[in-house]
Amino acid sequence: MTRSCPTCGAQLAATAPADAPAAPSAPEAGPPVRPRYGQALPKRLHKSPATVSWDQGRWPNFSVAELKCRCAPGDGGCAGEYFHDVRFLDALQRLRDLMDAPLRITSARRCPVRNRRVRGASRSQHMLAMAADIALDRHNPVQLARFAVRAGFSGIGFGATFLHVDMREGREGFHYDNGRAAWIDRFGFDPAERFDTTGKL
Ligand SMILES: [Zn+2]
Ligand SMILES: [Zn+2]
Repeated sequence: MTRSCPTCGAQLAATAPADAPAAPSAPEAGPPVRPRYGQALPKRLHKSPATVSWDQGRWPNFSVAELKCRCAPGDGGCAGEYFHDVRFLDALQRLRDLMDAPLRITSARRCPVRNRRVRGASRSQHMLAMAADIALDRHNPVQLARFAVRAGFSGIGFGATFLHVDMREGREGFHYDNGRAAWIDRFGFDPAERFDTTGKL
């Protein structure tokens, strides 16, 4: 079901089993994708980016600097903490590779202080684990959303100026209120509802 979500990554009830198998689809070019949702893989919250060992060969187009919490020193928040989740990073890199263009991350990790300041959802995936808001910029938004599905993200939020992606357990598509009309117009149908229902776009 489609739900409105005024803020990022609202933790709403899952609408599909966490391990629902993907329907068979025609072979497509590109890397194999669609890891099982809810799969447990190494992830860790780093209180400081300094403790992260980054695999530049595996995630060549991203850095801790753009994914860490945006708290600034002395502002009462964290010290730029970072949630290292290899499954999320692999999906993000897949999306980057599919787009074959730079992705501008406007918000990724958020500590609870930061999440409150940006009025994020109380159980936002930005706070619970790792999520990213990707600026629509000059991308084709429909292509970006479709590739986000192919890259294996299970949570996709349709905003006015960005696409939210995360790896929540269970599949969820949702709108930010100010983005709903434009996205429905672009697709010719409600992409949040379609993703919720079918796992495809
Ligand atoms: Zn978000
Ligand atoms: Zn912070």
